[in-house]
Amino acid sequence: MSEASFLLALRAAVGSSLATDEDSLQRASSDWSGRKGSCSAVVCVRSEADVVAVLTLAAAHQFAVVPRGAATSATGAAVPLNGAVVLDFTGMNRILALDVADMVAEVEPGVVTHQLQARAEEVGLLYPPDPASSDQCTLGGNVATCAGGLRAVKYGVTRDYVLGLRCVLPGGEVFETGGRNLKDVSGYDLTRLLVGSEGTLAVITRITLKLVPLPPGRSTLLASFANDDGAFAAADLLLANGVWPRALETMDAQALRLAATAVGEAVHDSVRSRLLVELDGEVGAVAETEARVLRLLTAHATAVDMANTATAHALVWAGRRAISAAVLTITPAKRSEDLGVPRGQLAAAVRELRAIGKNYGIGVLVYGHAGDANLHCNFLYDPIENGSAKRLEACVQAAYAAVLRRGGTLTGEHGVGLRKRVAVSAALGPVRCRLMRAIKHAFDPNNLLNPGKVLPPEQP
Ligand SMILES: Cc1cc2nc3c(=O)[nH]c(=O)nc-3n(C[C@H](O)[C@H](O)[C@H](O)COP(=O)(O)OP(=O)(O)OC[C@H]3O[C@@H](n4cnc5c(N)ncnc54)[C@H](O)[C@@H]3O)c2cc1C
Repeated sequence: MSEASFLLALRAAVGSSLATDEDSLQRASSDWSGRKGSCSAVVCVRSEADVVAVLTLAAAHQFAVVPRGAATSATGAAVPLNGAVVLDFTGMNRILALDVADMVAEVEPGVVTHQLQARAEEVGLLYPPDPASSDQCTLGGNVATCAGGLRAVKYGVTRDYVLGLRCVLPGGEVFETGGRNLKDVSGYDLTRLLVGSEGTLAVITRITLKLVPLPPGRSTLLASFANDDGAFAAADLLLANGVWPRALETMDAQALRLAATAVGEAVHDSVRSRLLVELDGEVGAVAETEARVLRLLTAHATAVDMANTATAHALVWAGRRAISAAVLTITPAKRSEDLGVPRGQLAAAVRELRAIGKNYGIGVLVYGHAGDANLHCNFLYDPIENGSAKRLEACVQAAYAAVLRRGGTLTGEHGVGLRKRVAVSAALGPVRCRLMRAIKHAFDPNNLLNPGKVLPPEQP
């Protein structure tokens, strides 16, 4: 059936929620990764009924559908390909319930992560997952990518907080997984399977999230070092001495300057690396741990600043969250990789990544989650420089190989999307890829949901 008849049927089903004007199509054709695709229509979803209608028609007309939150994906996961229909969830954004007794939130997928965090705190609860994009990204996108973020070292990632999902399959069938129970082993864990599936298995319309008690005490410290090795040694020392921070972030010499510039801080030339340490817990326990952290940091740090006033705390985190976008103020182009290694290998892996960059004439800027050894390794290059594209690709491949040799992962939290489908599948090997294809086929036999993502292209 033709695109025109499909769009007519869609218009009849969802009315003014359908947009086909050039502006809307252009906006929905790319995401934060900078990748560009194409779509033939955008449905601004208002209810699950809209999703059911679109997926029913999509199956009947064999049209591809791409769910989309705030489009902050770093991998092209939200980019529609070949004229697919985009389901934009940013308008389906109600917090449906915040139940203090059950300690759960029920949300629609378009709720911005920070909004749930703030609402939970108002009632003395914490929603721990905290991607650095939390003021923009949506909970639907977080679930679909299993977002990690700044507190994963202590609290884990999105997967650890999703208790249940309500979803729609191609064809319009609605199903639920999990619920409000903290323990539930009734059959295969479909909730966990759907978390991180990047919109390729089912479209999420409601999410049940676990909340935890809000710790009353908090302390934030910013430690400066003469080099990266000092910072990593200090991070190791804290963890080895039983300090369990809720955030343990690293910034190299370039990254820390970007963070500082973003909030108007002047940094002395001798500061070449920083650790951002945040503690939480009971007030007395935090004070005791803070004193211990200060003692331990003196072994390696050249200075430690406390950021415990509301203003200082906000500035430190605003700087940290600004780094990703600010990298483009010091380089014409970047390739940002979220490589992960087993924790004990962090310092050696960073040294190796820098050596690889040097070898290929590619700049390397590193910051990220030192606590869980998930690095945002940015390869900096100039696309108009002769041969730079080839050198960049060779450099990234060498970095992938280095990380895999260390037992690491090519993506700790951003996911596979478009960008890494070939590299990740090679790393996974044929058996896991075969099982993943079988799972995809069980949910979406005609490959209508976010096609061209996660799984590698089929061999002819
Ligand atoms: C400045 C910046 C900092 C970042 N920091 C972090 C970080 O610290 N940790 C981290 O993990 N990530 C980080 N990211 C990446 C990104 O924010 C996350 O991947 C986030 O989870 C994406 O959410 P989104 O709403 O933007 O989803 P989108 O980008 O719109 O979509 C992402 C994926 O989710 C799918 N999807 C969206 N909604 C649904 C739905 N309702 N049903 C099914 N599938 C759906 C899409 O199809 C796509 O595959 C950062 C990005 C930026 C720009």
